[in-house]
Amino acid sequence: MADLCENNLINPNWAKHGYIQVYTGNGKGKTTASLGLAMRALGRCWKVLLIMFTKGGDDYGELISFRNLSDEIRNNLTIIQAGADRIVYSHNRNAADEIEIKKGWELAKKAILNDEYNLIILDEANIAIDLGFIDLDEMIDVLKHKPEEMEIVLTGRNAKQEIIDIAHLVSEIKPVKHYWDTGIAARKGIEY
Ligand code: ATP
Ligand code: MG
Repeated sequence: MADLCENNLINPNWAKHGYIQVYTGNGKGKTTASLGLAMRALGRCWKVLLIMFTKGGDDYGELISFRNLSDEIRNNLTIIQAGADRIVYSHNRNAADEIEIKKGWELAKKAILNDEYNLIILDEANIAIDLGFIDLDEMIDVLKHKPEEMEIVLTGRNAKQEIIDIAHLVSEIKPVKHYWDTGIAARKGIEY
């Protein structure tokens, strides 16, 4: 395990092209899909940045898991929480959300344009755009100037058509059934 990353840095068969992926829709699995991708990429010793827009606080199972990865893998992962410790909707958003999200977006922009990672996950970026806290035109401009080899994932409901238009992969998760509709709220270990 000690030298996992020595001979494993970036798949030699990789096409040397990174894509823009979007996981959207009202069904469950957008953030979990992106976290699964992070785990997969980390196993290949990719440098990964996970920005969690609208999500503050400590109460996320994934954060506990990530913190307990081996040092070698953990060192390739940077996590930035850009949000307050509560769920943000359009009716309860406030200035604190705006400040946190904008700070996170500044860091994301820098990380993308400076080519600091192999994979960047912008979790709930679609929501941050929808809330009006990330400027859509600026997001499009940054995505258009991403480094050739970098993979970028945007998650969250209500992806804008302009984002869908420049993405290379868009998955829309459709809620055929969800226990949420029977009154079951978010469950520890399953939703957070
Ligand atoms: P996961 O994080 O499990 O992959 P997701 O990223 O696809 O889910 P989001 O759209 O980010 O899901 O929603 C996050 C949480 O919001 C859900 O886990 C759920 O508890 C809650 N939620 C709020 N409103 C709804 C709704 N109408 N239907 C389903 N879940 C909802
Ligand atoms: Mg989500």
